[in-house]
Amino acid sequence: MPTKIYDAIVVGTGAGGSTAMKILCEAGLKVCALNSGPRIDPDQDYRGHRQVYDLKYRGYGDPLRLEGKAHQEPYSVEESEYSEGRDLFEHDVAYSNAPGTDWYWKRCKATGGKANFWGRSSARFGDIDFKAADLDGFGENWPVDYAEIAPWFSKAERYMGVASTTQNRPSNPDGEYLPPMPWRCIDHIIQKGGEKVGVPYLPDRCAQLTVAHNERPACHYCGNCSRGCDVGSFFSPTWFTIPDAEATKNLTLVTNALVRSVLADENGKAKGVAYVDRVNRKEVEVYAKVVVLAASCVETAHIMLNSTSRQWPTGIANSSGELGKNLCEHLYGNPGYGFIPRLLGQPARPDNIADSTVAWAPRWQNLKNPREEKFIRGYSVYLGGGCGGFPGHYRQIEGFGPSFKRDIKRYYPTTIGALIQAPTLPSPTNYVDIDPEKKDIFGIPQLRFHFQWGQNELLMWEHCKQVMIDLFKAMGAEMWGAGDQPDRPGTSLHETGVCRFGNDPKRYVTNKWAQTHDVPNLYICDASIFPNCTDKTTTMPIVAFTMRTCDHILDNFKKGVHVRA
Ligand SMILES: Cc1cc2nc3c(=O)[nH]c(=O)nc-3n(C[C@H](O)[C@H](O)[C@H](O)COP(=O)(O)OP(=O)(O)OC[C@H]3O[C@@H](n4cnc5c(N)ncnc54)[C@H](O)[C@@H]3O)c2cc1C
Ligand code: SF4
Repeated sequence: MPTKIYDAIVVGTGAGGSTAMKILCEAGLKVCALNSGPRIDPDQDYRGHRQVYDLKYRGYGDPLRLEGKAHQEPYSVEESEYSEGRDLFEHDVAYSNAPGTDWYWKRCKATGGKANFWGRSSARFGDIDFKAADLDGFGENWPVDYAEIAPWFSKAERYMGVASTTQNRPSNPDGEYLPPMPWRCIDHIIQKGGEKVGVPYLPDRCAQLTVAHNERPACHYCGNCSRGCDVGSFFSPTWFTIPDAEATKNLTLVTNALVRSVLADENGKAKGVAYVDRVNRKEVEVYAKVVVLAASCVETAHIMLNSTSRQWPTGIANSSGELGKNLCEHLYGNPGYGFIPRLLGQPARPDNIADSTVAWAPRWQNLKNPREEKFIRGYSVYLGGGCGGFPGHYRQIEGFGPSFKRDIKRYYPTTIGALIQAPTLPSPTNYVDIDPEKKDIFGIPQLRFHFQWGQNELLMWEHCKQVMIDLFKAMGAEMWGAGDQPDRPGTSLHETGVCRFGNDPKRYVTNKWAQTHDVPNLYICDASIFPNCTDKTTTMPIVAFTMRTCDHILDNFKKGVHVRA
């Protein structure tokens, strides 16, 4: 049998990988996409509309389900009895934490990845982010500016469908939006309070369809987004990019294919990848003219670090030694929660948009002067409350039986909570490498995390807790408390930075097109290329930068830099 060679291999079918698949397939390339876990089936795997009493373990899942697994820690929100039944999440591949590190690596191995269950917050980055080093003197600028990226943000927003308003804020460039989500009473109260203490509260940029868009239906506000949307009313690879790529008939999608390394030819160029078939544990090789890695930030670095050869003794495309370095993350935590007494006694209406990022407090610090505060850069806060599907405030109320239920209901429309999103700065002590001693159950050397919060983000955390005290007071709310500590690193799922892009091949892994400096037919389509975090989330930018990278790949095929199989 002659060896099959594809035009391109794409590793990972999440937000980045599936966008790459779609664009390359639509341009006529023959693409082989490899995904580490099973194919998601919305009918079976999204169980959002079931009631807890329909589920065997009342929504919490079988307590013994992870017994014997290599990584036994359950994941929050997205992994519950509503979605876990068909082994969608990664518990077989273990990872290590260096002493003093407590990284929490949540992975969805099913097709579509984490964007099956994501929060949909989709703000644009701006020059305040790309040129931050010029403003405050710390770190390095990105190799791109806003004018260059803005058309790609527009393209991503037009495809995904992002609801918001024009806001004219320097830290948050406006985009091309669907109508915003209607606000609840509680949002107006937060906004009024915010006005008194200088905290903006505005519609978030939310990739949720407030009207029918690109042949996908408008949201019916069932509030089950973190369990997967059963009708495709928010952007997810399952409903958007994967079907689009498949419609071209140019896609070969291989599931349960855990990629362990990129294969290099005698000149050090990528010639394909090696993967472990999870079903029979056999190792398989696939070949292509171009390899695109989109396994999600740290996993992309893991694959590259494990891709050693004579030409690449420390990992493929790592002549700079920068692979795995500069791991950045959002510090998440709860800087304040409580209730609004004046809403006590209001009827508890079903208010399931509480599962959406309806509104947020976009960065308001260090805007006039980059060093106004004790910290540099800035953070944003998601605030919200209302009558969501499960009464999170049950912990605040004592008692049992009918009076306990009555009290929970009484507080239902009143509760309010906050979530800080504070970016870390690149640090030489935050990185990933290969654990020299441990291998996973498939024989693949494990990834090891080295990570500590830095002073800058801890100052933001303290600042935010103080601001929340003032804000709660200003809106007439009572505070029940605030988190003592930030959440564990990794919680946000917005890690960046381990394959940074930049112009100098000696200091960066890829060029500004996300093409590795050393290996011209190896590209990266996830957040690992972003040099640092910002106060915004990463997914819409991953889609936008992937669109731009794929345009460059196609251009390189046209120019003859890459030749079709
Ligand atoms: C509950 C929740 C809320 C979130 N909220 C937001 C938000 O509001 N806004 C936002 O921007 N982001 C949010 N995120 C993060 C967002 O989901 C991620 O940024 C985004 O999904 C990353 O896309 P990705 O393609 O890089 O990675 P992933 O979605 O993780 O996809 C990676 C893919 O690669 C595959 N893969 C991994 N390793 C291998 C391997 N070795 N071999 C083969 N395949 C492999 C996986 O199976 C998966 O399909 C949230 C995530 C969650 C879970
Ligand atoms: S609230 Fe809307 S987007 Fe979310 S799961 Fe329901 S229909 Fe889908």
